[in-house]
Amino acid sequence: MSDEADCVFCRIAAGQIPSMKILEDGQSIAFLDINPLAEGHVLLIPKDHFETLDEMSPDLVAAVTAHLPLLVAAVTRVAGAEGCNVLQNNGRASGQAVPHVHFHVIPRRSGDALGYRWPAGSYATGRAEQVHAALKQAVGGPM
Ligand code: AMP
Ligand code: ZN
Repeated sequence: MSDEADCVFCRIAAGQIPSMKILEDGQSIAFLDINPLAEGHVLLIPKDHFETLDEMSPDLVAAVTAHLPLLVAAVTRVAGAEGCNVLQNNGRASGQAVPHVHFHVIPRRSGDALGYRWPAGSYATGRAEQVHAALKQAVGGPM
């Protein structure tokens, strides 16, 4: 059986299992997350199956994510929130449970139960330069 046949979000895109859709166009669908982190938590997906973001073409990423400004505004307003997180996990280690690209739009209020963890670190002397050079080379950026 293919990944797509097994995939819950492909089945939602194909209308084989129900979802509470919020918007849809030729390439994307947004629907309510079935187990929300907060009321109004929405998922935005490409209709076609891609496991992680790097498998998608830049044009398709642009077409799907073009919906984010409207979704961010709608989720924040309808949930009566003060802001929201847009979150997209790639790979199990990042927390990705459903291996079909999706963007979470999660309404937030200051002091809400979700909290915020951002354990920022720092570079040892010379290490930032090494990482910088490796990343520039990886993306073919300016040398
Ligand atoms: P992630 O951990 O980033 O892969 O998030 C997967 C999300 O998909 C979770 O928030 C789930 O609650 C949500 N989810 C899984 N199955 C469904 C479904 N059938 N309909 C709506 N949301 C779903
Ligand atoms: Zn899929």
